[in-house]
Amino acid sequence: HGNGNGADHPSTGSSHTTPVLLVSRLYQPANLREVGQESRQAGEMTCKSQRLMQQAGLIHPSNPGCYYYLPATVRAMEKLVRLIDQEMQGIGGQKLDMPSLCSAELWRSSERWDLMGKELFRLQDRHGVDYCLGPTHEEAVTTLVAHQASLSYRQLPILLYQITRKFRDEPKPRFGLLRGREFYMKDMYSFDVSEEAARHTYDSVCQAYGRLFSRLGLRCLRVQADAGNIGGTLSHEFQLPADIGEDRLLVCGGCSFAANEETLAPGETDCPRCPAGPLAESKGIEVGHTFYLGTKYSRVFNATFSNHQNRPVVSEMGCYGLGVTRILAAAVEVMSTEEAIRWPGLLAPYQVCVVPPKKGSKGSEEGAAQTEGLVHALLGGLPRLRGEVALDDRTQMTIGRRLKDAVRLGYPYVVVVGQGAQEETPRFEVICQQTDETMFLSKDQLVDLL
Ligand code: ATP
Ligand code: MG
Ligand code: MG
Ligand code: MG
Repeated sequence: HGNGNGADHPSTGSSHTTPVLLVSRLYQPANLREVGQESRQAGEMTCKSQRLMQQAGLIHPSNPGCYYYLPATVRAMEKLVRLIDQEMQGIGGQKLDMPSLCSAELWRSSERWDLMGKELFRLQDRHGVDYCLGPTHEEAVTTLVAHQASLSYRQLPILLYQITRKFRDEPKPRFGLLRGREFYMKDMYSFDVSEEAARHTYDSVCQAYGRLFSRLGLRCLRVQADAGNIGGTLSHEFQLPADIGEDRLLVCGGCSFAANEETLAPGETDCPRCPAGPLAESKGIEVGHTFYLGTKYSRVFNATFSNHQNRPVVSEMGCYGLGVTRILAAAVEVMSTEEAIRWPGLLAPYQVCVVPPKKGSKGSEEGAAQTEGLVHALLGGLPRLRGEVALDDRTQMTIGRRLKDAVRLGYPYVVVVGQGAQEETPRFEVICQQTDETMFLSKDQLVDLL
């Protein structure tokens, strides 16, 4: 059958919606060969998340630091984007989308055209005018806000954010999506009336980041950070502890002090805040970064608002990044086992995988009918599972073989229609991958569980 809507699978619904994914139809070119060879030839290093994601057909390498994000990855990304949208809009953020092609003129004004050095991807148009591919957008957003001549103090704070591809000519692209040369970032910029107001905005963004990571079930450390060439005076990074992390962190056991090693003077090995003594060293993956910028960019681009006395005042700014593709890979990195992917529940591309019996095996016809009834009950009882159920219809394969795939791909729930489904009160084998528990449940119990 050609169109994938499966006329022989009535449970897959109409041709307009696809409430059930047929695993045989998913474009997921699993690459079970030893992954790493191509990457190593391209001069990249590999890590667990890169290996697992490539093997499972979630990503495919293109050129150094660039990947195809395959369909299941795009689903996970879209889920992450929705969560980020909720958190950013929850604190008053408004989403916009800025050009990736950025004029050199703006970057010369901020002096970053030279400062960024080789990390900036530069190009020229047909008239010989210089551009760069945006690695971050302080210049662009500040000129945008500066254009609004009539901006009043009553309209502040303004929080603008986007989730777009960023381009950086990284000296060492590696670890799959963790360090790409083209990657997705959420970047938000805030404009406030005073330093006090800007610090308040800064805190509310940090809290939103904290909520996001706790919803994802990721333990994240907020550490004091260096502002680098973005500039500013107050800065924090959100770090996921992991062995392959490229940042060194120093954390106090006695109080909440934690810092990126870059911010401390060599030798500074004791906690500067409490008498607990030596700081413990660990490694982290930087998944987010917040900066209080002051007027560094607003002064240059003349981004002002009119105050109570109707006089122009330069806005106080902040900027706040989240590595969207990096968070996805970092979550896979810290949650997975060596063999099997584990996702934060909210990001798994599909929530449930149903595995019916092998075609021609004993009781396979009853099993197929049971499967149909089960899928029907799930979708009928739980509308939020529409589009979240995968049916492993590769019934020429044994249950065991398909189960192995499902475990490897990390569906939060795998439901096997096996021998138990033939009994008088049919039971389904349910594997909860998050907790590694296996249960035998009736259809109703399963609906209750999910
Ligand atoms: P790093 O220290 O890892 O190079 P950065 O400090 O240069 O990161 P920022 O300018 O702070 O990065 O950008 C904001 C966020 O964008 C980072 O916290 C990170 O999550 C993400 N990010 C930065 N560079 C990359 C990259 N090359 N690939 C994927 N995500 C990235
Ligand atoms: Mg960098
Ligand atoms: Mg950094
Ligand atoms: Mg940073």
